[in-house]
Amino acid sequence: MTTPAPETLSFKSELKQVLHLITHSLYSHKEIFLRELLSNASDAIDKVRFNSLENEALLENDRDWTIRLAVDREANTLTVSDNGIGMDHDTIIEHLGTIAKSGTRAFLERLKDADAGTRPELIGQFGVGFYSSFMVADRVTVISRAAGSTEAVRWESDGQGEFTVAPAQRNGRGTDVILHLKDEEKDFLETWRLRGLVKQFSDYIEHPIVMAVEKKIEDKTTLEDETLNSQKALWLRSKADITEEEHNAFYRQISADFEDPLKVIHVQAEGTPSFRALLYLPKRKAMNLQFGDAKAGPRLYINRVLIQDPCEALLPAWLRFVKGVVDCPDLPLNVSREMLQQNPLLERIQKHLVKQVLKALEELKTAERETYADFFKELGQILKEGLGRDWERREAIADLLLFEHLKGDASKGITLAEYVEAMPEDQHDIYHLAGEDRAALAHAPSLEAFKAKGWDVLLLTDPIDPFVIPGLPEYKGKALKAADRHAPELPEAEKAKAEAATGAFQPLLDLFKTKLTGLKDVRLSSRLKESAVCLVAAEDAMDPHMEQLLARLGQGHAPSPRVLELNPEHPTVKALLARHQADPTDARLESYAHLLLDQALIAEGSRPEDPTAFLARVNELMRNQLD
Ligand code: ADP
Repeated sequence: MTTPAPETLSFKSELKQVLHLITHSLYSHKEIFLRELLSNASDAIDKVRFNSLENEALLENDRDWTIRLAVDREANTLTVSDNGIGMDHDTIIEHLGTIAKSGTRAFLERLKDADAGTRPELIGQFGVGFYSSFMVADRVTVISRAAGSTEAVRWESDGQGEFTVAPAQRNGRGTDVILHLKDEEKDFLETWRLRGLVKQFSDYIEHPIVMAVEKKIEDKTTLEDETLNSQKALWLRSKADITEEEHNAFYRQISADFEDPLKVIHVQAEGTPSFRALLYLPKRKAMNLQFGDAKAGPRLYINRVLIQDPCEALLPAWLRFVKGVVDCPDLPLNVSREMLQQNPLLERIQKHLVKQVLKALEELKTAERETYADFFKELGQILKEGLGRDWERREAIADLLLFEHLKGDASKGITLAEYVEAMPEDQHDIYHLAGEDRAALAHAPSLEAFKAKGWDVLLLTDPIDPFVIPGLPEYKGKALKAADRHAPELPEAEKAKAEAATGAFQPLLDLFKTKLTGLKDVRLSSRLKESAVCLVAAEDAMDPHMEQLLARLGQGHAPSPRVLELNPEHPTVKALLARHQADPTDARLESYAHLLLDQALIAEGSRPEDPTAFLARVNELMRNQLD
């Protein structure tokens, strides 16, 4: 029988870029290649073990799960072997050459942004998986046999742009990754070096990582198998025994995050069900969370057998940024993925986990406010979704919110509890105003009365706020109200004065109403102190900022008509009243009505409806003054 010639294939272009960087510019943290290969080997074993739950034949009577390291000093090779799921001809081409995993693009983008000095760090942060082998090897051979198949396949590459694939022989299922080490990397043939690296990065891998090491007994040197890792799943160890480094390494392994976690949450629940969990809060929003459709959730293990990753049923969507592991021996091993969704035990686990996460966030907020504020800037947007989706936890979520506010500086947020605490006696409600940014909001005419009274207002600058804050109609018995729709209540004496003023102004207001189309109403204002006019939403209308956002998303409809409010104390408005009383037919009144409306639009950061007409009116006004 003649052996067919190997096929030669080209790496996908993104992978070529990664390989080029790996072989040409990245020199530090080379040792992470071992972590990546061991993790792949462990995943491969998890996969075959899980698949064998339904198809025992895949095991081929080999359930002695082992990852093996072997060195050959003469050939200068280090081999990582596993008896996992293996790969066949097509999968090996796909996985080791043509599919760039989702993180690859992000990795390349980061590299482009970063200056050369920080580059070497990045490889360790991103972990480009299998390809990191080329940091230490000038040639890599992979021999693999897929579970259930009798044929093996041999993949080989020097990492320069092409790889070959050919049929091969292998005893039993699994994969050997053979690294032909570069001359200067012979270090990785040393037992002490490999032992140290396994301890440092891969100690918690649950399958034994075994290596034959030289043992001297009475001058005779023999080779003996040594298990290099303690194998104890991190989540099964007691809290006090786990070091920060171990947490960091484990978190990176399970999260694809390139930073250390912000906080670790240990959960050990006894009862029905009993389970253990290690949850991690990230520092930053992962790229794939940006768009809300990413699958997320902790990993689910049953007695250390990986069942689902991620398991969405373990946490609600508004906590989808939480990473981690849950191990529940009380669940039946043969539970199907569909069944998991409705399993009452999982619901109970979820409840418990949510409570723990909220508690951890609360503690962080109290103990380390600045760190919490940074966290909230990154992930608060996702957390807030819970206000509308989870009525039971609404109050607890509300306690975690941070807002910008009128009286505070831009960097520090305020909580609802702090806001309520600072409310003067005559203020009964919580006021907020939504808008683009702090600067525009702080000068909004609708806030003048609040400023005059010394009342604080929450500034809703997060684009999601108008969608989620209505999910919180009250907090601790205090109603949340939009400041542009609800002015502070006037004292009785002022109310009477305002009513009297309305009587005198009515004819002028009526004239404005007929001359200015598209408005819901024109009325006197109790909220203005300095400005002459402002535009407010009608009490029954949608939040105007929300309307703008929807319009931008292409979901807008015609904006709801608004209300123009006039400040009866303002000299310009007073002069208009006098003019109207002297001669209601004065043509300038109509022109000034338009100018006032345009003023209101400019003050809130909008454009006059017809800028040309606006300029013509201003010019006419200037001319009249100069004549
Ligand atoms: P990642 O492991 O992050 O997905 P890698 O580049 O390290 O990325 O590996 C790509 C894919 O190749 C893996 O997802 C897996 O499907 C396959 N693979 C790698 N190593 C092995 C192995 N030892 N056994 C089986 N499949 C493997």
